[in-house]
Amino acid sequence: MQRIEHLVGGQSVAGTSDRVGPVFDPATGAQTGEVALASVADVDAAVATAADAFAEWRHSSVASRTKLMFAFRQLLDANADEVARRLTAEHGKVHADARGEVARAIENVEYACGLAEHLKGTISESASTGVDVYSVRRPLGVVAGITPFNFPAMVPLWMIPNAVACGNTFLLKPSEKDPSAPRYIVELMGQAGFPDGVVNVVNGDKVAVDRLLSHPDVVAASFVGSTPIARYVYETGTANGKRIQALGGAKNHMVVLPDADVSLAADAAVSAAYGSAGERCMAISVVVAVGEVADALVDEIAARVAKLTVGPGVDPDSEMGPLITGEHRDRVAGYVQAGADAGARVVVDGRDHIFDSSGFFLGVSLLDEVTPDMSVYTDEIFGPVLSVVRAETYAQAAELIRTNPWGNGAAIFTRDGGAARRFQEDADAGMIGINVPIPVPVGQHSFGGWKDSAFGDTTIYGPEGFHFYTRPKVITARWPDPATSAVDLGFPTTR
Ligand code: NAD
Repeated sequence: MQRIEHLVGGQSVAGTSDRVGPVFDPATGAQTGEVALASVADVDAAVATAADAFAEWRHSSVASRTKLMFAFRQLLDANADEVARRLTAEHGKVHADARGEVARAIENVEYACGLAEHLKGTISESASTGVDVYSVRRPLGVVAGITPFNFPAMVPLWMIPNAVACGNTFLLKPSEKDPSAPRYIVELMGQAGFPDGVVNVVNGDKVAVDRLLSHPDVVAASFVGSTPIARYVYETGTANGKRIQALGGAKNHMVVLPDADVSLAADAAVSAAYGSAGERCMAISVVVAVGEVADALVDEIAARVAKLTVGPGVDPDSEMGPLITGEHRDRVAGYVQAGADAGARVVVDGRDHIFDSSGFFLGVSLLDEVTPDMSVYTDEIFGPVLSVVRAETYAQAAELIRTNPWGNGAAIFTRDGGAARRFQEDADAGMIGINVPIPVPVGQHSFGGWKDSAFGDTTIYGPEGFHFYTRPKVITARWPDPATSAVDLGFPTTR
């Protein structure tokens, strides 16, 4: 059984703690490894290494950082298949989906490759006589990233490229459930030429997170995970004086208007609800069928669901893989029962799907006539369960989104440009899809939800990433002719 250690200062480090966490192959249910769970001392040692590296890295030239970022981008692209293989082995998602995750991750590296442009300052030449004023953005120091199990490659790369492009050094605390892919990615950064200590991995659980949030030398942290932990990380980190961005969970609605192309909407709903077994923060978990579209839409979704192939991620025929753990699979199955008990119509019951495997599989479920008081609607299920809520009017659909505590993504399917434009303004969510079910912004825009889906002032990656990982400095400079120098105790004014 493999042991997954920390990666600090370019070295594999066993750590001082004897605590370990199990790593499973979700497709077989077998434990394939154990991951070291860091002690406070392990975190402290990694922070010290990152702080030492910062002393030099902060002075590295933009040109040298750009060159390294391009080299990393090439290596990541060349090894995308290996990253994807590791994703499938520990997360369970099918290989094609894993390749998609790596492709979206690379977008963020490509954005960081433009660091010369993103870090360009501004200057007010001759702001006063003989005085130039210029603004630059400086790195923060040692910054941390705490990431969830569902995108073990992409989410760390929402953070690391921008953070180190800005001149920070980085400590990644990936999910302990599937730690191999992020560790491998950081190894690739070393191969690309990033100096030892610039990017480090500390594996662990709450012990490591709590130490990162209290360590005096950790200046900022980016967090992505569930809402309760995001709120905790935000409150704890900011109470300790750190800059924190903390992205949480979601309940994403897809509104289908009566004029929509039903076939297109059904394709989109099935893809967005069941892709990656519904373990995506931007998955569609609620379809709001407006008016007379509902019956046809539910029929078309059910017809597509019947043809889905659920199986191991390594099988090229599989369209959906297992869930992350047996415990999570059982929790998701429990929601189907809870929906049935509360009066929802179970059109397709994923629990009926029998698998010839001890992996963490669950078939897909489709629930119709769900109402907002049911737990299948109020809770983030994070599994292959799609709820259909029937609404009589567009206004009722918009109200559901407005009153929902989460606000990550929201989508509308319609042929009416005016209705789509109105939705774009009405929907209380950070990312809006118009005939696009999973509107994850490309790397040159920033990602983030509203309400309980994100805590903190900035969203993640893209331009806001560069903003989050830097602080401004304004320089006022004068190079006077010594012949004109004189003492002047008055308050400096512009002339
Ligand atoms: P999680 O909150 O359980 O874990 C996220 C991270 O926090 C992990 O690194 C974990 O080790 C750590 N952690 C867990 N419990 C902790 C505790 N008590 N104290 C301190 N740290 C703790 O999330 P998960 O199950 O790994 O991921 C799924 C969740 O992440 C879903 O809710 C999903 O919606 C969300 N997510 C959100 C986004 C987004 O961009 N908004 C993206 C991906 C996933």
